[in-house]
Amino acid sequence: MNENLTESFTRGDGRRADELRPVRFQNHIAPHATGSTLIEWGQTRVICGVTVEDAVPRWMKDQNVPGGWITAEYSMLPYSTLQRKPRDISKGKLDGRSQEIQRLIGRSIRAAVDLQKIGPRTLWIDCDVLQADGGTRTAAITGSYVALRFAIGKLLTEGKLADNPLLNPVAAVSVGIVNGQALLDLCYAEDAYAEVDLNVVMTSTGEFIELQGSGEEATFTEEQLAKMIGLAKTGLRQLFERQQMSLKASGGTEWVGRGLQTPG
Ligand code: UDP
Repeated sequence: MNENLTESFTRGDGRRADELRPVRFQNHIAPHATGSTLIEWGQTRVICGVTVEDAVPRWMKDQNVPGGWITAEYSMLPYSTLQRKPRDISKGKLDGRSQEIQRLIGRSIRAAVDLQKIGPRTLWIDCDVLQADGGTRTAAITGSYVALRFAIGKLLTEGKLADNPLLNPVAAVSVGIVNGQALLDLCYAEDAYAEVDLNVVMTSTGEFIELQGSGEEATFTEEQLAKMIGLAKTGLRQLFERQQMSLKASGGTEWVGRGLQTPG
């Protein structure tokens, strides 16, 4: 791999190899959700809504597991792709990709919360893709964290939680290798040609939550992996900043004084 390419290489949309697509959040987009945002990440747009249910899953009751639970559902709206994608309900079952993605979202957001402190509740994270152009799972995770913050803030404000259950912020980004070049934040046109595709989920304190990486009819070296992780960290630093800016602008940090850990 040509190391200099990271600095000189330009992409179909004119971005540098280490440049994110523009990211913004339209918060409180779904007033009946406890917390919500529409994350717009280049041409990828995902609605993330958090709803609180005052019950825990049966397995928690059966096994006497204390605290609460967080679970996620992910779906692509039929018109989110260039060719209409039929709803899962019309096929009678959830497709494997959606199942894999929603479990990843659930694991990622659970890492942001001390489940014991949310009490006997389930937080439902619903992610609906309005427009897909690559990176829908990383957008869903990054947006869900913002929606989660509004939901937790509401529970704290209403006095339903005694202690702030939030741990460190969580975000995710994709990286990959296209034509031998390590690239940050692949759009669909790049993803379709990627030799290697890696989704990185991290906390703002630099700890990994999950790495989902695979060579698509290709292999990758340890050196390439290190390069991709480096790019992911560059992107994630910016994503954590955008999350915080957006939360501040929308009243998502008003209860900081009650022990919220802000990212370093
Ligand atoms: N895609 C699509 N239809 C599908 C699945 C994926 O058009 O049924 C497109 C969409 O743009 C998506 C991209 O392929 O964002 C990459 O999909 P992948 O499974 O890698 O997940 P993502 O990158 O969205 O997390």
